[in-house]
Amino acid sequence: METETHSFQAETQKLLDLMIHSLYTNKEIFLRELISNSSDALDRRRFEALSNSDLQSVEDLEIHLEANRLTRTLTISDNGIGMTREDLVANLGTIARSGTLEFLNRSQGDTDTNNIAAESSGADANPDLIGQFGVGFYASFMVSNEVDVVSRRAGEDKATRWTSKGAGEYDLEDAERDLAGTTIRLTLKPVDADAGRPDFCDEYVLRQTIRKYSDFVRYPIKLTIIEEAPATETDTSLDAAGDASGQEAGKQQAADPGAPARREIEEPINSMKAIWTRPESEVEESEFGEFYKHITHDFQDPMLRVSTSIEGNFEARALLFIPSKAPFDLYHRERLHNGVQLYVRRVFIMDECRELLPDWLRFVRGVVDAEDLSLNVSREMLQQDRQIQTIRKHLVKKVVDRLKALSKDDASKYEEFWLEFGPVVKEGLLDFEEKRDRILDLVLAPSSADASKLTTLADYKERMSSDQEAIYYIAGPKLDVLRRSPHLEAFVENGVEVLFLTDPVDEVWVSQGPISYADKPFKSIGHGEVEIGSDEDKEKAKVALEKDEESLGDLLQAMQSALDDDVKEVRLSSRLKSSASCLVLEDGDLSPQLEAMLRQAGQAIPERKPILELNSEHPILVKLGKRFEGNPTDPKIADSAKLLLGQAILAEGGQLDDPSGFAELVNNLMAETL
Ligand code: ADP
Repeated sequence: METETHSFQAETQKLLDLMIHSLYTNKEIFLRELISNSSDALDRRRFEALSNSDLQSVEDLEIHLEANRLTRTLTISDNGIGMTREDLVANLGTIARSGTLEFLNRSQGDTDTNNIAAESSGADANPDLIGQFGVGFYASFMVSNEVDVVSRRAGEDKATRWTSKGAGEYDLEDAERDLAGTTIRLTLKPVDADAGRPDFCDEYVLRQTIRKYSDFVRYPIKLTIIEEAPATETDTSLDAAGDASGQEAGKQQAADPGAPARREIEEPINSMKAIWTRPESEVEESEFGEFYKHITHDFQDPMLRVSTSIEGNFEARALLFIPSKAPFDLYHRERLHNGVQLYVRRVFIMDECRELLPDWLRFVRGVVDAEDLSLNVSREMLQQDRQIQTIRKHLVKKVVDRLKALSKDDASKYEEFWLEFGPVVKEGLLDFEEKRDRILDLVLAPSSADASKLTTLADYKERMSSDQEAIYYIAGPKLDVLRRSPHLEAFVENGVEVLFLTDPVDEVWVSQGPISYADKPFKSIGHGEVEIGSDEDKEKAKVALEKDEESLGDLLQAMQSALDDDVKEVRLSSRLKSSASCLVLEDGDLSPQLEAMLRQAGQAIPERKPILELNSEHPILVKLGKRFEGNPTDPKIADSAKLLLGQAILAEGGQLDDPSGFAELVNNLMAETL
């Protein structure tokens, strides 16, 4: 086939530009990315060979670097799974993960997307965000003028070459490769220390970079240097494998003096040591950080590390991490590359082992190494495996304990965690398997005490007065709406604190009830009747309400008939202090948001009407009462009822069924009073 020229998908080009022009000085990470990709490809090769006898298993899976000092090219090859022509197009020409463009636009703010190069000297070319897309390969363009990939998929006999200069296009053509695997050749840009480009053909630089970022990679990383043969040492030319300087010096194979000489360093550059088997005290935190980046392809350090081991009947070790930032696909469960890697006795078994952690901890990354599982364990077997169940329980407990400790030791860091992952953690409250109190212990929420801060439930409970019977909350999508909700008025006046729950999942777990924390039930202030304060206060409120009901009963009846289609009942309320009206639901009724969510999910939710509560002390009610006495069929009564209902809907952040009808009523009123 002839050379085909393809254009990069627009999003890919955008990312490439971001990479190439970013002021990101840490350009050496390109090597970490390419080595990680090779390591993944080797894993897949090994894994496929287990189940597919056509792929003979390869004994010496390895990663090979060749630095040519004369041509200034750096080649990274592996004998891993390889890629077909289609794979190359899909993997290196497009970004498969959806949502990328949206995220990119978000992370760039309003920057004109065609202007990235010019703008990138500003803060918007944020390299930390780049890693989220799994764009590791593109990092090569930070150091290369040209990238050339030759790959052959295991099980196929054709190879394909992919080449690009990173500017808009790439070429594809047929190629030769003796064995399956991938070879990536980088034509390096000139050395420029200021731009963070040291000499990536230099043995010392390569060794340092690999030790720093990829030491624990479980396949040997070998290095060959091609350089000018030392002119004087003509006799080192031939078989120098037995050279006395040994492995460090490698073997020299120079043909002619002055001609290129190949120096193969036989000892792998990386120690290949599983980091979790080393005593924790001997591992630098930065080494853990690099390991995390290796397994996750994240560019940022993790927020938290949890190292733990299980001893007893069977043994396992785990090294887990919580990322600093939520991945942008955290809520696309099927897409999120989540889960923990499973090893058995230091042998890698599988990625994304979902059985090891529940869904509500799907953001946790890391490795688990079990001593007593079979090496041939399959995904199907894992679900039933008792050891896996035990490990899972242990991990959940450790992660929760660690988070709990963090919330005590470093409240502001814990808040950062919560803002990133809180909504996912709360999904655990829907899970009957989990101990809810343990998860509730982790919950943070703003409250009416100070809506700009987050409180724990324990602190909320601390502040409760002795006669407060429940943990009060109000749920809805917008904090600002909740803070100004009429439902709060009596609570604020009585100094009773109310939690503001604003995540969609909140509506679900609170309505799964009965749910309580430290023996106090959760109670919505938008549901049922309110009774707050001392017994004496409650009694007083009740008497006052009964009296008003007696005098205003007929008016309420008339208003109810005007609103029959929309509300179940019109009644007086002691929860309102300054507002005239609000909507409440019957205990156990679903909130409008939850209803909408369930309907969207295709569930048939029966119509249910709210209750309209009115404030008998409000001047509007007082005047309406008089008007009703004068003329019980005054059309103003029905109009006022509709206005009070409309207000109550708007105050909840809800939508009017008939906005223009409402506007007309308001206009009439204005015309009369102006
Ligand atoms: P990521 O590795 O984060 O998915 P990359 O852009 O680095 O993103 O790579 C994209 C994809 O290309 C990889 O997911 C993998 O499928 C494929 N790939 C990259 N390098 C190799 C390699 N050396 N061998 C086989 N496949 C590779």
